[in-house]
Amino acid sequence: MIKSVCGYCGVGCGLEYDESKLIGDVAYPINEGKLCSKGISELVSIDTSTRLLRPQMRDNISDEYKVSSWDESIRVIADKVKKTKPKKIGFYLSGQLLTEDYYIANKLGKGFIGTNNVDTNSRTCMSSAVVAYKKSIGADFVPLRMEDIFSSDLLILTGANTAEAHVVFHNQIKKAKKQGLKVIVIDPRYTETAKIADLYLPIKAGGDIDFFNLISKRLIDEALYDKEFVDLHVNNFELLQNKFKRVPVTKMLKRTGLTKEQFEWFWMFYKNSKNIITAWTMGLNQSVQGVDKNLALINTHLLTGRIFKPGNGPLSLTGQPNAMGGREVGGLSTVLAVHLGFDVKSINKVSKFWGTNKIYNKPGLTATQMLEADLDLLIICHTDPIYHLPNRHKMEKLIQKIPMVVEINAYENSETSKFAHIRLPAAPWGEKEGTQTNLDRSITKQEKLSRTSIDCKADWQIFQLLALELGFEKEFSYKNTKEIFQEYQEMTKLNDHMDIHLANYDELSDKPFVWGENIKGFLTKDKKANLYFLENKLLSEKTNLIYPFVLLTGRTRDQWHSGTKTNLPKTLLKYKALEFVEINSEDAKLLNIKSDDIVAVTSLRGTITTVAIVTDNINRKTIFMPISNRDINYLTNDLLDSESFEPDYNYSAVKITKV
Ligand code: SF4
Repeated sequence: MIKSVCGYCGVGCGLEYDESKLIGDVAYPINEGKLCSKGISELVSIDTSTRLLRPQMRDNISDEYKVSSWDESIRVIADKVKKTKPKKIGFYLSGQLLTEDYYIANKLGKGFIGTNNVDTNSRTCMSSAVVAYKKSIGADFVPLRMEDIFSSDLLILTGANTAEAHVVFHNQIKKAKKQGLKVIVIDPRYTETAKIADLYLPIKAGGDIDFFNLISKRLIDEALYDKEFVDLHVNNFELLQNKFKRVPVTKMLKRTGLTKEQFEWFWMFYKNSKNIITAWTMGLNQSVQGVDKNLALINTHLLTGRIFKPGNGPLSLTGQPNAMGGREVGGLSTVLAVHLGFDVKSINKVSKFWGTNKIYNKPGLTATQMLEADLDLLIICHTDPIYHLPNRHKMEKLIQKIPMVVEINAYENSETSKFAHIRLPAAPWGEKEGTQTNLDRSITKQEKLSRTSIDCKADWQIFQLLALELGFEKEFSYKNTKEIFQEYQEMTKLNDHMDIHLANYDELSDKPFVWGENIKGFLTKDKKANLYFLENKLLSEKTNLIYPFVLLTGRTRDQWHSGTKTNLPKTLLKYKALEFVEINSEDAKLLNIKSDDIVAVTSLRGTITTVAIVTDNINRKTIFMPISNRDINYLTNDLLDSESFEPDYNYSAVKITKV
């Protein structure tokens, strides 16, 4: 029997592999033996016929791919790197990568090629949370654990559909409810998650900042904030207090779409709860004001001192299995490594550690900026930007301007593969080993469950081959993932709050290591948290008479991203279809749309056809489509948050018509 960990979502469930079967690990603290449909069927994704199994190359995207060798492919890429200015090279990584893969790619890109254009698809899902945590509490640090729900009185879930996106955590919420936890769900859709709520608030899309401001204002006006905590540990209280004197409460409430009575219901729960957790995910992060939404939420915890205490805190739920590991390593272009930035002191420390003088002193391009940046070489690893970046027609045109696009992937049917010149076959989950960090700082180990397919390689090996071809033999002489992890552990000593160096690689399969457990205070320079006054600036695309609906996007329970791992013949019968759009019954009536009708959804950027589901479970003038619909981004707008550069996936103006 081999113990490993699920490679799908940020919950990070433990599992056991025995006689070709996967089961949940009962001894594993996070899931206690439970797995969701994705976790149970991980093995299916290894033996699908759509695996990419050989290196392939072509000169032009209109040509067919031809099988190549590793030697030749790597030589061609290395030649291109040598001839290209570092700032014209981009590494587009993924929350699917293991920590060791991230470490090698980051070291090679930032440390030895000299480009800080090393970013990840996690940019499109949690970079708003990263920026907000740093601004408010001083570091990208999740200050509580999932298990805190068992010592909490109230869980507020906002912009998070845990029943479909974090299934096993959702089951834990149900268990905590039996022990007295109250749950409030805030979402423009009455989701599966809302079904377990003690109170459901159908917030209007885009009203989040107003909602959290209303709480903060009420806390201040009714003197229900924790004065002692604020005096000792929090900056900017007076500023917030003064600003809130002048905010238009009625207008804010109107923008939330909630009635006074609904807010008063909420307030009753809130006021009477001692311990409160607010958890969120893409509903807040994926916004043109994603950072501000996060900060408005965190304000409520800072005002009440509900942070760094059992059962309390702002809990960001990450979607991908190792988005957190990527953040820790430094796989974001806005971070150098191990939570260090591009200041002189940090560059000196990292340069000395890696033994290099190539580190450039400015942040690089984000994943959401790379296609627009006139790059000469883009290396994309385990992700599918043409599917997931917003405003797809535009992205398809932009990627064609890049002279060399390299795609490293375990599957051959990505949307991006249509635009790549070189494809390199990577080992998927189950054929490689390494570590990952789940959403609440548990570092775990994925184990190799079967032999690596003959011509496939782990991602770190692929980056290593490139490094060796570029002449960095000494700096990239790793024999296995353990050596890489141990070097990374040494590196975490460069940053005082990262105690990852205390983990033991060999023990991680049996027992996750939770880093940062001794951090009980703020990580800012003055050790105080920062409050911010936020205004809803209404920056999203405006609806109008032609495009009167707001398009929301989100996960469905059994599907994963573009479906390369889940939308497979073996799973199709079991899994929910992806071709649908939910529309409110009143709106549908006015448009003469019935369930199962084929409808066209159109934005300024494109049109897609799909099947209507008429429902009362969504706000009026709001429609919902699954993100795993591969064409979804022909519709979405490409506005970005100005600080996190995360897209506004949950607010595009569209129309819907019967076909
Ligand atoms: Fe895997 Fe997440 Fe499901 Fe757990 S909840 S089995 S980690 S997909």
